[in-house]
Amino acid sequence: MAEKTTKTMRVLYICTSIQSKDMINIVLFGPPGAGKGTQSERLVNRYNLVHLSTGDIFRKNIKEATALGTLAKSFMDAGNLVPDEVTINMLKSELEAFPEAKGFIFDGFPRTSPQALALDEMLSEKEQSISCMLALEVEETELEKRLLGRAETSGRADDGDISIVRNRIEVYKRETAPVAEYYKGQNKFFAIDGIGELDEISNRLFSAIDTLA
Ligand code: AMP
Repeated sequence: MAEKTTKTMRVLYICTSIQSKDMINIVLFGPPGAGKGTQSERLVNRYNLVHLSTGDIFRKNIKEATALGTLAKSFMDAGNLVPDEVTINMLKSELEAFPEAKGFIFDGFPRTSPQALALDEMLSEKEQSISCMLALEVEETELEKRLLGRAETSGRADDGDISIVRNRIEVYKRETAPVAEYYKGQNKFFAIDGIGELDEISNRLFSAIDTLA
């Protein structure tokens, strides 16, 4: 109970301490299967933000057989990260495509330290910054279960194969998890329990965001 209160107070402290000028820019963070896509949709509807999911954009490019899609496919099929330069350039042009946005939900980006630095640079060029990183926390066995279960409806080859799923989780631990330190260093990180009913998890995210100035 005491720990819960401290956690809530930390959200209040972190989010009210942000001098958000006019946009809310949220990094929704977490391992594959943590629920970033599902929760992003709910956040987008509630706060009228633009949802930028790098995984979705890559998949769209694969479907449309663009050069970017062809390049990304081999990395994605193996559960590895698409190279930074490619991903950063893609994100940059997506950002520029929404000049009127009230803010963004970054889902699946940044996934490496160079991506986090590049994102700060892109936003600072627009005199904006990241408001919060909200990190959905889910234990590994649950992630595997969710991804394998999701394969039946997502049709994603990278969800249905246990060795690819495990590689994605390992890549997350090795290359992506350290990105949290970058936001902790800026007092922008907050962990959200990603276990429970979907509505419960959404409410945890909403309460964190609602404290943004
Ligand atoms: P997701 O839909 O977020 O699970 O992403 C699916 C796949 O797309 C990942 O396993 C990576 O291969 C690729 N991908 C998505 N976002 C990024 C990123 N920010 N950096 C590198 N690769 C990415």
